[in-house]
Amino acid sequence: MSESNNTMEKIAALCKRRGFIYPSSEIYGGIGGFWDYGPLGVELKRNVKEAWWRDTVTAHDETSVPAGAPSAYAMVGLDTTIIMHPQVWKASGHFDLFYDLFVDCRACKARFRADQIESSGCPRKPSVRPGEHDECDLTDPREFNLMFKTYVGALIDPTAETYLRPETAQGIFVNFKNVLSTARVKVPFGIAQIGKSFRNEITPRNFTFRSREFEQMEVEFFCPPESSEAWYVYWRDRRVDWYVSLGLKSEKLRLREHGPEERAHYSCGTADIEYAFPFLPEGEFGELEGVSHRSDFDLRSHMEGKLIRDGNELVVERDEDGQPRYAGSGKDLSYFDDATKQKYVPHVIEPSAGVDRTALALLCEAYDEDAIPDEKGAPQERVVLRLHPRIAPVKAAVFPLVKKDGQPEIAADVYRALKKRWHVFYDEKGSIGRRYRRQDESGTPFCITVDHRTLQDETVTLRDRDTTEQSRVRIADLESILAERLRA
Ligand code: ATP
Repeated sequence: MSESNNTMEKIAALCKRRGFIYPSSEIYGGIGGFWDYGPLGVELKRNVKEAWWRDTVTAHDETSVPAGAPSAYAMVGLDTTIIMHPQVWKASGHFDLFYDLFVDCRACKARFRADQIESSGCPRKPSVRPGEHDECDLTDPREFNLMFKTYVGALIDPTAETYLRPETAQGIFVNFKNVLSTARVKVPFGIAQIGKSFRNEITPRNFTFRSREFEQMEVEFFCPPESSEAWYVYWRDRRVDWYVSLGLKSEKLRLREHGPEERAHYSCGTADIEYAFPFLPEGEFGELEGVSHRSDFDLRSHMEGKLIRDGNELVVERDEDGQPRYAGSGKDLSYFDDATKQKYVPHVIEPSAGVDRTALALLCEAYDEDAIPDEKGAPQERVVLRLHPRIAPVKAAVFPLVKKDGQPEIAADVYRALKKRWHVFYDEKGSIGRRYRRQDESGTPFCITVDHRTLQDETVTLRDRDTTEQSRVRIADLESILAERLRA
């Protein structure tokens, strides 16, 4: 087994052991591509989403021009439904085009993504690529739409068919006019949304990286056509900075601009923000986020109907009778600019990120093994999650050194005081060394221990997860010290 696969197995085992991530419906054998987040995982994921929402919406200052931006702009949030009118998916192109090509093996019944044959293994031994065993009998590639189909109402017939959304973006586009007319915003402005998306992936794999149910954090940024290129560059660079600010600092994070051949037909520019996950072969990266310049494709599709490319133009796709193959809403989604007296369909810049992939990258980046001295000074191997304090599920753990002499009572008082502000954990069971190591594995940045000296001078030890250094601090100063260090 390669070293990186080994690391991934250790990270997955840690996620299970400490309650970050479990297989969904595990007592029934699990279900491929679905994962549950445990007590620590749910906090980690909430912290990722909160950091994104603050950065994108609530902490955004619309009165000043951010560094690198062409102008000041407004940001608002939205929360739209997972199931939408089925015409949404026809006009957007997902009904026709949101598919992967798959290949079946008639001999062993395994299914592979056609574009991943090179990196897949035939389930038979010795392991070789699909098609390389004597008995392999592969079909030609066939299309498979990734949208989960469902029915609305009591009738199970084609008129009741709809889909679970495969991205949150369409909920934003169809609400463009609503937001414009109710939120007192002017182009350029952005709408942000966090929510579940569903894709019936042919080969879900690599832990949570490719799941069938996952969460996205998406912005649709509406801007005038002439400044759209500058906005694209702004969002692309800003989004990379966000990952760095959460601790993805290593050379494992990269920005990759797509060449024209890789872009969707409507896109004028696309860049992926990628991470070298340990389950990937050396030198390969996996997508955390795609930032795309989508021109006026989306709003026009929902006005006019499904669009296709004709030379340099996007035109409505028509059937034999000259009617739109998939009609749009017919509603006017253009924008009238009061200042310039111009009417136009805004262009869209879309930074589209995955919550689960971000959480996984943060866990991979944070995972570390080192050796620290135990109580007797002998080196002990430890596993530590060096998570950024903003992202760490638990911010501090409070322990009494022993379960007597009034120490538990003081420790519980400290715990209750800090609990008002942060997610803090109390533990009085087991040796202090084991309690520290459990918190190191959970990524808790600070441990606070009440000991015999506390009774005399009202001080406690404050232990730093990364350096394991302990300093003596006054209980009265704990809150302000933690506030400062957690912000760092
Ligand atoms: P990939 O090429 O890896 O399938 P994609 O290009 O189809 O990804 P997008 O449609 O751009 O992905 O979706 C935006 C983001 O949503 C991705 O960057 C990723 O973080 C997340 N995402 C997409 N599909 C999945 C999935 N199956 N499981 C987990 N996250 C996903």
